[in-house]
Amino acid sequence: LAGLAGALYVHRTGFVSPGIFGLTLATNIVLWTLIGGRGTVVGPVIGTLVINFTSAALADVWLQYWVLATGVVFVAAAELVPEGLVPRLLRLVGRPVRRPADPMLSVRVDPPAVDGDRALLVADGIDKAFGSFVVLDGISISIERAELRCLIGPNGAGKSTLLDILCGQQGHQRGVISVFGEDVTGRRGWQFARCGVSRKFQAPHVIDSLSVAENLAIAAWGPRSAAWFLGRTDLSVGIGEGAAKILERTTLGDRCDVTAGALSHGEKQWLEIAMALAAPCRLLLLDEPTAGLTAAESLDAAALLRDLHAELALPIVIVEHDMSFIRAAADRVTVLARGELIADGTVADVEVATAGRTVDRGGGGGGTPPAGCARATAPPRST
Ligand code: ADP
Ligand code: MG
Repeated sequence: LAGLAGALYVHRTGFVSPGIFGLTLATNIVLWTLIGGRGTVVGPVIGTLVINFTSAALADVWLQYWVLATGVVFVAAAELVPEGLVPRLLRLVGRPVRRPADPMLSVRVDPPAVDGDRALLVADGIDKAFGSFVVLDGISISIERAELRCLIGPNGAGKSTLLDILCGQQGHQRGVISVFGEDVTGRRGWQFARCGVSRKFQAPHVIDSLSVAENLAIAAWGPRSAAWFLGRTDLSVGIGEGAAKILERTTLGDRCDVTAGALSHGEKQWLEIAMALAAPCRLLLLDEPTAGLTAAESLDAAALLRDLHAELALPIVIVEHDMSFIRAAADRVTVLARGELIADGTVADVEVATAGRTVDRGGGGGGTPPAGCARATAPPRST
């Protein structure tokens, strides 16, 4: 609606000046919305009318004080009626603004994640540098089948950056990426997502002010075009089987109507994994899903992820530090240190190959560089 109003405004005035994109209008919009009331459509409209008619009426007398007066009104409104005038009035007459009903979740059955023998993900010769600081140096990695692969390495090794590149979240300088046989080099994050590559970030990225069901609905609706939503009134949504299984097997299932901000840290981690699985997902990338969990919770997480992997034949790549999680979960482990792959194989193979090197939790110090990997790098930041 705002976009449409903006487009019509241009035709009505026949002129657009940079001034209308300035700070004054931007702050006024916040003021109108704050005074009218967030969470309603009519509130901001009333706020806009009240403020603009008042400013027009007082313009003659008070022009030089108007900006000061709006500042005072802003602070007073934030203190006295933080929800805005319209919601406050509706509450006084006994008709509080209702939160929109939560979407109805149902289970959507997608085709199997993996069909045929073609490689699921191939990244070849990936180089990534921030300025002169080389983070990834010619990394080649491929996921050929529905395996559960752990990517490990000291803090600052480049694991999150590699995951970002494998889902289009960040660009890279050199190298080719293909998913499910299609060359996707240079494509954007949403295009990777529409190919079925889903990602969970290192710090949970859930929307705190929305309920669990709404977070899942937004994730499930993500691949839809905006036009699909116009005129849509029923709020039912099909979420992927993986997301439904997480709701069933964690405490989230009973908390669909709770706002995400009120969830525990572990529940937020599961919610974000469920969100990654809510849209059609054929390859799941998880960045430190057990960060902040206790040792027992971490082993439960390993078991649940293994179940999801087995039941849905879903390929999963997990960045992890916790060796007990890795032993419990991984089919195969790839070790990254200082931007290079230094070992790859089963957990036992990798433990032998890296014996004596620090590839586990680096304690923020970046670990001991393996022989042959010492290069000029900036000090690793804390993750
Ligand atoms: P990991 O996940 O293995 O701990 P990251 O991939 O987060 O490591 O980071 C690898 C290195 O790249 C770190 O030294 C980090 O400081 C650096 N880095 C990450 N993102 C940026 C950025 N946007 N700009 C500059 N340096 C970055
Ligand atoms: Mg990281």
